[in-house]
Amino acid sequence: MSAVSNGDLVRAAKKVAKFRRATDDVTFGHVGAAILTDKGHVYTGVSIDAWCGLGFCAEPSAIANMLTNGEHGIRKIVAVNGRNGKILPPCGRCREFLYQVTGDKEVGVILDKCREAKLGDLLPEQWQKKSFKRRH
Ligand SMILES: [Zn+2]
Repeated sequence: MSAVSNGDLVRAAKKVAKFRRATDDVTFGHVGAAILTDKGHVYTGVSIDAWCGLGFCAEPSAIANMLTNGEHGIRKIVAVNGRNGKILPPCGRCREFLYQVTGDKEVGVILDKCREAKLGDLLPEQWQKKSFKRRH
């Protein structure tokens, strides 16, 4: 078992969830995310928002950090709103991305202080490559 508790993971996400401005057109850190890997390491990431509409959630940012460090197995993930410190369930795109990266419906998703769900419960019908048939 890991020595990293849900509280530790939430604190790691809160630590990076600080609104900051990179340029006139880009802000980041509205939301922070933290991942506990199956090797027991914690990786964090922040949301990024560009004025033109581009950007992404904190979860893929943390996933990119994890992949950059050579890991891909996620035990748990949490995202926190930097403005009020509340835990945020992942959006639909992030649920799908979590599944595509890990292929694991047992990934734990912290939903609030007292609740946690398995990714498979939040994403019962994930996209599947096999549902596409090659035509040529
Ligand atoms: Zn998202």
